Amino acid sequence: MHEPHPDNALDFDDDFTTAQPPQPRNDFGHAEPRERPAITATIHSAEEALEQYFGFRKFLDSQEEVISAILAGRDTLVIMPTGGGKSLCYQLPAMVMDGVTIVVSPLIALMKDQVDALVNRGIAATVINSTLSPNEQFERIQGMRRGDWKLVYVAPERFRSHAFVNALRTIDIALFAVDEAHCLSQWGHDFRPDYLRLHEALDALGRPQVVALTATATAEVRSDIQNALNLRDPYLNISGFSRPNLSLNITHTSSHDEKYKGLRRMIADYKTGIIYCATRKRVDEVSVLMQEWNIKAIAYHGGLDEKSRAYAQDEFISKRKDVAIATNAFGMGIDRSDVRFVAHFDIPGSVEAYYQEAGRAGRDGEPSYCELFYNFADTKTQDFFIDGNNPSYEIICDIYNTLRKYADQGHEVKMSIDDIAKTANVKNSMAVGSTLSLLARTHYIERFDIQGMRIRGTRLLQPTVGAHQLKLDRAALAEKAKRDRSKLKAMIALCESRQCRQQAILAYFGEADSVPCGTCDMCRGSGHESAREGTPAEVMMMRQALSGVARMSRKNADGEWEGRFGKGRVIAMLTGSKSREVLDAKLDQLTTYGMLKHIGSSVLQQLFKEMEGAQLVEISGGEYPLLTLTPNGDQAMRSGQGVRLRWPSTTKTVSPLTDSARHSTKDSGFSGQELGFDEALFAKLKRLRLTLSQSEGKPAYTVFPDQTLQFFTRLKPMNLEAGMKIRGVGEAKAAKYLRAFVDLIVAHEKGR
Ligand code: ADP
Ligand code: ZN
Repeated sequence: MHEPHPDNALDFDDDFTTAQPPQPRNDFGHAEPRERPAITATIHSAEEALEQYFGFRKFLDSQEEVISAILAGRDTLVIMPTGGGKSLCYQLPAMVMDGVTIVVSPLIALMKDQVDALVNRGIAATVINSTLSPNEQFERIQGMRRGDWKLVYVAPERFRSHAFVNALRTIDIALFAVDEAHCLSQWGHDFRPDYLRLHEALDALGRPQVVALTATATAEVRSDIQNALNLRDPYLNISGFSRPNLSLNITHTSSHDEKYKGLRRMIADYKTGIIYCATRKRVDEVSVLMQEWNIKAIAYHGGLDEKSRAYAQDEFISKRKDVAIATNAFGMGIDRSDVRFVAHFDIPGSVEAYYQEAGRAGRDGEPSYCELFYNFADTKTQDFFIDGNNPSYEIICDIYNTLRKYADQGHEVKMSIDDIAKTANVKNSMAVGSTLSLLARTHYIERFDIQGMRIRGTRLLQPTVGAHQLKLDRAALAEKAKRDRSKLKAMIALCESRQCRQQAILAYFGEADSVPCGTCDMCRGSGHESAREGTPAEVMMMRQALSGVARMSRKNADGEWEGRFGKGRVIAMLTGSKSREVLDAKLDQLTTYGMLKHIGSSVLQQLFKEMEGAQLVEISGGEYPLLTLTPNGDQAMRSGQGVRLRWPSTTKTVSPLTDSARHSTKDSGFSGQELGFDEALFAKLKRLRLTLSQSEGKPAYTVFPDQTLQFFTRLKPMNLEAGMKIRGVGEAKAAKYLRAFVDLIVAHEKGR
């Protein structure tokens, strides 16, 4: 197998450019806790401020709850997706509270955009970051003291400076907002060491009130943030992760060909989109295909130099190109709202990554289509990444020893990552990148640019320390590997689950009580096929699969089957795998070896899940669960009679669009029809809206905008509660109009 080229390798290099040389630990000392200013602002004044300063008439989703908590003086943790309106959660309190609000934000470009937007609204906001001269910084701090500024955005590395923190001590701080707070989590991709200093700074400042915000919704990141900032009894708000305009689809595929066909159709139907691939090599493959198809596409991955990446990104953002084929390196700061589809050519490593990437579709709120081409075999690539990201202690020592051995007089090593891997005899060169990253973080080495060379050098910072003296948190390393593996597991479970995709994802993120989305593949019915007796071909497939299980089991003294292998190995045998674990066990000598090769392992995975559900097979045992035939299964294997299953489709086409939609002549954008959109209902809802608006003598859109009617059409809320959850339905409008719309939908559905 050609080794996948990990894109993460580059991300590690990136790490080094942002990682700072070790700093003497700051010890700001502790200040007396600040008196919390008496809060006079209330949510009523907040509402006024919303209109006055921001020109918005209503709060979005849970902004109101969050702002109430902040105005009540509580530390707050806000978890809201990108674009959900997080900034307002601290910007608005900043306007109604006394003193200045400090906003810690990691990206200078982001900061600038936000401040520009605020200044445009006439709000006194500014930045303090490394683009300013010390004099300018000093001047801004003076300004804060004079009360010139309501909001000051500060880059996290500023808090390394004693002088800066000391200067802040004398300033009246209303609120300390930590944006992109997931940068605090050492487990994440975006970890920023400077964020870990913030709690020292907070202590030094006498613990002003803190609000932390992020779009990362996992439980582990949540608790990392709370611990790292030492939040006191924080108010936690998770909301807004549902994306009603996205149709989430996961299609089981067993060949690249199927994926290519699916892509072709998606591009024909939706035109603009992003195709995510797991590896650089795959990006190149798919790009070649796009060229053949004459699609205006860009390729993007971490292996390209900075200039090519910037160029590609710009081509896509400026809409000169329709399709981006990219690894997960693509995305940060991609601001193109009319992305109509996102395809995942390979399974991503976690639900977080999947949803973040799929979520780049439909930022404009228009219906958009997401498709993941799932093939269990692809999970191997992710396994490879997990191994590469989590080198064992032994590998770390081997690499460190190699560095010591080849260091010159100045303790410098000038070898490429690949060379280090070869010399240290490490197979997965990604593990070298991860190890260097780790050693840099723990200050055993630093990386430096070598003039005129593409590779970077490595300098030993503690050259006398031997490998066995490295102080590494082995428990934490093991913990991280475990977390990574369980994330992949959750992603696989999502692919194999038959629950509404949206609901499953929200549950994973901790947002309970969501309603079925109505637009994913499961909700649209492809997942709800009922059990039936099989066609002769299906029954044959089942009997062959069962006899494969029998061949790999033995009978005990009571004549019962006992499994000897796990499901993975049984499927590998049935599909004729030549892997070591099959050949070593001589499974290639069984008569059933390779018998279901034409079916493919992905379909077999589904079949076995079904057979397990129908109690034809059983999975038992602890760490290495074994697959066993049940008496029912034995019977079914022999007769093939009377078994009802939800048979996996063996000829499944990729996109569950109707034929008419597939041949739709529309070549750009989305036509509602393409997702089985109920035009008749939509028309009825529009008529109702017209009647209502006319009776009030108001324009139609003031009742509900088109988009909300589209959501009604696709989500079909059958009661008020479900209706309330739809975007665009606030309390006031619900009280006035919702009942009429819900009644209409119920009547319409009854009539069908
Ligand atoms: P986030 O920081 O969560 O990514 P933003 O704070 O940038 O999201 O907000 C996303 C968009 O929503 C912005 O364009 C913002 O102006 C808009 N927005 C925020 N709050 C409201 C509101 N109450 N009403 C209307 N638009 C809002
Ligand atoms: Zn659904």
